[in-house]
Amino acid sequence: ETFENLGLAPMLLKNLAGLGLTKPTPIQAQGIPHIVRGRDILGLAQTGTGKTAAFGLPMLTRILAYGKRPAPKTVRALVLAPTRELATQIHDNLAAYAEGAPVRIQRVVGGASLNVQAEKLSKGCDVLIATPGRLIDLIERRALVLSETKYLVLDEADQMLDIGFIHALRRIAKLIPAERQTLLFSATMPKLMEELAASYLSDPIRVEV
Ligand code: AMP
Repeated sequence: ETFENLGLAPMLLKNLAGLGLTKPTPIQAQGIPHIVRGRDILGLAQTGTGKTAAFGLPMLTRILAYGKRPAPKTVRALVLAPTRELATQIHDNLAAYAEGAPVRIQRVVGGASLNVQAEKLSKGCDVLIATPGRLIDLIERRALVLSETKYLVLDEADQMLDIGFIHALRRIAKLIPAERQTLLFSATMPKLMEELAASYLSDPIRVEV
């Protein structure tokens, strides 16, 4: 099995080869074709399974196909992660997959200067990776809007619930138009997660690895 027949943008395939990634992991092989076609995904997967590329590559493919640059302060794809460390990892991986592609990928997390982050968002971004608390702070400052957001990824969603981000998640999800693609990844499926999945995902494909 290779990445060639999954529907990904040629530019991304070139980058993957350059990074030495040749064989898709199970969640990539199962998830990517559906995500490229615009389906919602409920992914049951631990970290280390390659889920960042599983959601990132098809999302970047769709953003590249769309072709327009984001308007100031808008975010085309929002990726929410529970911790700074995970947000940084996702950012760095996506930046490597998209090397040389005309997409702006930014990261905002707690602990860094709000002013500097607001400035980074002022031009708009294609992909924003954020922790929920910091994202709310920036929304309240009117540093960004989610009215043009077409993709929402909730990564390690069970951890976000454990940390107590449920209210932040609900607030954020309400600001994103319902006409969107939503991808939810979680290592576990407690009852609250099933409820979240039922309210945020539309006819999702369930992928379990
Ligand atoms: P993740 O589960 O997304 O945190 O990925 C775990 C690690 O696996 C990361 O360091 C990726 O660079 C690596 N990785 C992702 N996809 C592949 C692949 N298809 N082949 C080899 N390594 C991969």
